[in-house]
Amino acid sequence: MRTGLYPGTFDPITLGHIDIFRRACSLVDRLVIGVAINRDKGPLFSLEERVAMVEHNCVQIARDCDVEIVVHPFENLLIQCAEDVGASLIIRGLRAVSDFEYEFQMIGMNRAMNDEIETAFLMADAEYQSIASKLVKEIYRLDGDVSKFVPPDVVQALKRKLGK
Ligand code: ADP
Repeated sequence: MRTGLYPGTFDPITLGHIDIFRRACSLVDRLVIGVAINRDKGPLFSLEERVAMVEHNCVQIARDCDVEIVVHPFENLLIQCAEDVGASLIIRGLRAVSDFEYEFQMIGMNRAMNDEIETAFLMADAEYQSIASKLVKEIYRLDGDVSKFVPPDVVQALKRKLGK
């Protein structure tokens, strides 16, 4: 039984994240989606709202892939969270070069703390590769159409949070 941990802020969840969920399901028997509290990043959505949106968008994937998906809020160190949930694999999504430098450092430091937990990087389908939560929020604030980037419930959540 292999457990994978896919951590992120998911502020909010996008079609890029959802594409990675599906791909991650082919690698593990149980997928834990770690939703980071990340107070420092000053998230737009509360932890409860982010968890609810992730949960809502996992139900169908869990059914389709026959994988158990658990949504797990966490505030501690990533490697500690992986140990707590029994994950042998950390999954990260990788966009163009911008993500690389940060991930490169993270993997080095995580390995120094626990060399038995492997990290796998997955790329979303070309259609979703450029999507970033930060840009979705900016586009929405500037009256752009974000329905190509996030699922319908997230469009509604943005409406409730930011008006319009
Ligand atoms: P973090 O604060 O960890 O960057 P995010 O919620 O922004 O949290 O992203 C979580 C993970 O999903 C990260 O590994 C990030 O690189 C990846 N990710 C985000 N958007 C995409 C995308 N469009 N395609 C592939 N991976 C993505």
